[in-house]
Amino acid sequence: MDGEGQGGYWAPAVLPLRPGQQRPGPLRPGAPVAPAPYRQPLVLPMVVVLVAVLLAAALAVRRGQDAAAVGEIFPVRQDAPAAAGWGPTYVDEQGRPARWDPCRPISYVVQAGWIPDAGRGDLAEALRRLGAASGLEFVDEGDTDELPSLARSAYQPDRYGDRWAPLLLGWVPPGATDLGLGSGVQGMSLSVAVPGRAGPSLVSGQVVLDAANRLAPGFGPGTTDGEVLLHELAHAVGLGHVLDATQVMYPRTTNSESEFGAGDRTGLATLGAPAGCHPAPRAAKLRPAP
Ligand SMILES: [Zn+2]
Repeated sequence: MDGEGQGGYWAPAVLPLRPGQQRPGPLRPGAPVAPAPYRQPLVLPMVVVLVAVLLAAALAVRRGQDAAAVGEIFPVRQDAPAAAGWGPTYVDEQGRPARWDPCRPISYVVQAGWIPDAGRGDLAEALRRLGAASGLEFVDEGDTDELPSLARSAYQPDRYGDRWAPLLLGWVPPGATDLGLGSGVQGMSLSVAVPGRAGPSLVSGQVVLDAANRLAPGFGPGTTDGEVLLHELAHAVGLGHVLDATQVMYPRTTNSESEFGAGDRTGLATLGAPAGCHPAPRAAKLRPAP
């Protein structure tokens, strides 16, 4: 069962949100990783390891791509400056940001095994806000027993049919996943982009919150599930970090009410429905197998 797509490769990004976390500096695949400044020592080593592993996978695929390959995808590792308002999660070699097709609903399933009491309500509200700002439509396909994983395939025909696997959303304890939750990492977003002639397409992903470290529900002041949900879900639809504390995509949580700022909204509109349809390549097994 080979089925590799035309030049397709998976380019997942692990984008944690936790107060004090900063991105590692630029990495060369295979090169020793130099620690970057950070404020939560428990977080960064984990992030660096994950990023290095994923870049190595992407590099291996690039070597394996043929000359007809459509393009390459690069995770954006520099937080956008405040003046930019927002930044993308992935770009291709032409700098075009990865985006979903706003002309098709985005399906999601929920891992509800550890969902907090207010979890469904908070998730629905976060998706409503995300949809209002981006024009993207989200469709709940119900609960799943699938656990989030670094190795989750974006194409699971046996489970989800002949299409890209839906977004997997939920709360799990750190021991139930290898995504690196816990030890200061409250939420993770891992999205999958594939190259295309009109620019890269986001086609699947996972958003997971730590079920063992409970935050306050809702979207009020302080560090809340709502804030983490907005942040991680915005990653899943293509936004990266911005160094502006008034934006949800600031790398750290804040004490303010959780709502998208002007830069967040500009980014969501730029990647969403106002930018027009963006059909994704047909679903297929990506290489290399993660
Ligand atoms: Zn983040």
